[in-house]
Amino acid sequence: MSKILIIEDESDIADLEKDYLEMSDYEVDVCNTGLKGLEAAKKNPYDLIVLDLMLPEMDGFEVCREIRKEINIPIIMVSAKKDDIDKIRGLGLGADDYMTKPFSPSELVARVKAHLSRYDRLVSAGQQKNQNDIIEIRGLRIDKTARRVFIEGEEKPFTTKEFDLLTFLAENPNHVFTKEELFRKIWDMESIGDIATVTVHIKKIREKIEKDNANPDYIETIWGVGYRFKV
Ligand code: CA
Repeated sequence: MSKILIIEDESDIADLEKDYLEMSDYEVDVCNTGLKGLEAAKKNPYDLIVLDLMLPEMDGFEVCREIRKEINIPIIMVSAKKDDIDKIRGLGLGADDYMTKPFSPSELVARVKAHLSRYDRLVSAGQQKNQNDIIEIRGLRIDKTARRVFIEGEEKPFTTKEFDLLTFLAENPNHVFTKEELFRKIWDMESIGDIATVTVHIKKIREKIEKDNANPDYIETIWGVGYRFKV
């Protein structure tokens, strides 16, 4: 079942959208501020986001920009003002579609369906083209094309850098990399941060893929040196 996140502060509209999407067999979560929506989007593997423009805490422009840095799922933006739609287009925020309020809920459902099936086609076409873009090691599956990670069949949400770091290590198994090497490989020179960033990211990756952090199945700490992906 596809999971959809609605980020909308007007509860009447959010409820209506949720009802219609649920009637079409989608699983729906609602967040009523931009910040809550952004956090939920990063934490959970949603398939599509319906994003209102005028939101408390952080507006839809900013939320869209932040989501796009890390997540590549369809985003449908909605706004009460026609002018905003031109602005969204002009800014090139990476939204996939735009709707002006008021719209009929069935129109929303139709667009959600269209975007989800287009996205599925893109993802599966990519997979067929590049079978070797899937890395499978024991219960871990990394889909490089779709940039998705599964552990024992369950998808785990990964940020861009976490994904790049895990993929790099998994593609170079049994090789010990120092934190400095990993930082240089994954973060570009202009990045703010230092080798502590690597430690933080390794910790986050382990929380998602390891059953027992003290006894890792995948990423091993080589004390005083760095990390190694176990074969
Ligand atoms: Ca609003």
